[in-house]
Amino acid sequence: MSQELATRYPLVLVPGMLGFVRLLLYPYWYGIVPALCQGGARVFPVQVSPLNSSEVRGEQLLVQIQRIMAETGADKVNLIGHSQGALTARYAAARRPDWVASVTSVAGPNHGSELADYLQRHSPAHSLRGRVLSLVLRGVSALMTLLETGYRGPKLAVDIHASHQSLTTEGVALFNRQYPQGLPQTWGGQGPEEVAGVRYYSWSGTLQPGKTNRGRNLFDGTNRSCRLFARTFVREAGQCDGMVGRYSSHLGQVIGDDYPLDHFDIVNQSLGLVGKGAEPIRLFVEHARRLKAAGV
Ligand code: CA
Repeated sequence: MSQELATRYPLVLVPGMLGFVRLLLYPYWYGIVPALCQGGARVFPVQVSPLNSSEVRGEQLLVQIQRIMAETGADKVNLIGHSQGALTARYAAARRPDWVASVTSVAGPNHGSELADYLQRHSPAHSLRGRVLSLVLRGVSALMTLLETGYRGPKLAVDIHASHQSLTTEGVALFNRQYPQGLPQTWGGQGPEEVAGVRYYSWSGTLQPGKTNRGRNLFDGTNRSCRLFARTFVREAGQCDGMVGRYSSHLGQVIGDDYPLDHFDIVNQSLGLVGKGAEPIRLFVEHARRLKAAGV
């Protein structure tokens, strides 16, 4: 087996809101884990509460990091988080920088999601729409918990309100005040490459008519949802992946912020149905090579 992706520390993959390891046979990181393993990387897709604050999810992640370190004998891990998984990873690294070699944000709402802001304005928790939305989310999350086959561990508490607050611009601004590690100083800039011995990286995509809505995404309903969600964006109108804005995703070294990938394509969802010319798996493989070269 090739060892070109055999990073010094294991790769821990942290999912976003409503995330999972595997629903029956269907993995969250579709095709990504096998591609990394083929190159000799040790890869651990983990589960944290599908609906909760980044802090609660981050505490759950710390428990899993400890377990992975005990299992592998490694004294640190590399965290790669998708969407809210990025905030979750940032929390864990801020609390235990001694356990974390790097944090990589993949389409992470590091300055909040304008979609979450829109929902807060138009479907506040106490409104009828807010209550229906909350009921639907609770149902989806319960169903996903039933179908989850990749996570064995204690029941993970659900808090829909905290989950939502953790994703709004206001909520993330509060989070950032406490856990600023890796954030850029200026809007659209890059962040420091290393803080407290932890390396920080990010990449993200944008919706690009003619690319992201073509190819196999023609058959993917999640792409249509992203295009609909994108209409709620004001500050980063036309510059988002449907759920997260291009500049909002910046953290540490920005590897790229305009790949032709929607918010689901970027983790090769659904079933690898992505737009024309998109190669989300390649970005993970290249990143593992980058981490290995950096000695982590
Ligand atoms: Ca897709």
